[in-house]
Amino acid sequence: MKKRLLINVSESKAIKDLRSNIGKHIPCPKCSRKKYVRRLKGKDKRYFCAKCRYKFSLKNLVGFKYSNLNYKQIYHLLHCFGNNKSHQDVIDWTGVSYPTSRLNYSRIRTGLKPHLDTDKLTGKFVCDECFVGKQKTNNQAIVMGAVDSTFTNLRLEVIPDREQDSIEKFLEIHIEPTSLIVSDAFSSYFDIGFMGYNHLIENHSKGRFQETVPIERVWGLFKTSITRSYHHIHKEKLPEYLVEFQFKFIHRKYRRNPLYIAKMLTKTVPDC
Ligand SMILES: [Zn+2]
Repeated sequence: MKKRLLINVSESKAIKDLRSNIGKHIPCPKCSRKKYVRRLKGKDKRYFCAKCRYKFSLKNLVGFKYSNLNYKQIYHLLHCFGNNKSHQDVIDWTGVSYPTSRLNYSRIRTGLKPHLDTDKLTGKFVCDECFVGKQKTNNQAIVMGAVDSTFTNLRLEVIPDREQDSIEKFLEIHIEPTSLIVSDAFSSYFDIGFMGYNHLIENHSKGRFQETVPIERVWGLFKTSITRSYHHIHKEKLPEYLVEFQFKFIHRKYRRNPLYIAKMLTKTVPDC
């Protein structure tokens, strides 16, 4: 039985919504200038940048350059992506093939990556590492994460091992010294005080779990979302899925709206 579509927009409605969503000041995908872009008149529905003379379509603007999908399919795809729908749902609702669905999900993730905040964080952060995948199939990777107790900021990254160097490197990239780091009693964290961090250790073996709850919740959510939507992923592709999860986690209030994701993709840094 075919599942009921959560939203159903027509091709013209999809075009209209995507177009009006971008707003008046359209950034040129090539030179990212805003003032010089205008719509071409007549049959040609594309945009034109008067500065670099680059012509581009709405599809290009929302991050679907060279795609054969129509706007209705793009709209539904963005909806599926934001609402954690599986590839099977995309196939059922848009009529594309499995490889196309995967390719386009991957395209969205790549487009969203530049929008993740990379500034150093300050405050109180709970840090931990987590094993993703199975050792016996040689598909295991270690992800390190840092999250604050209000769940407004989240940083995730694949680290090569749980050695002191890897963990300290992660902290150095993402968190400002003088911040408070909460961790378990794993030995790789013991020297981070020398890097300028305040350090709070919570020893799980003594039955204390209260402080590290936020990061444990993140791991739970991450693993559930992967299993539900994709069932199985390869460790080479893991960074891509981390981008998706971080985006959805931080923008959780708006991610269900396909136009919100489209707007994010529009703001992507110039591709040439
Ligand atoms: Zn331009």
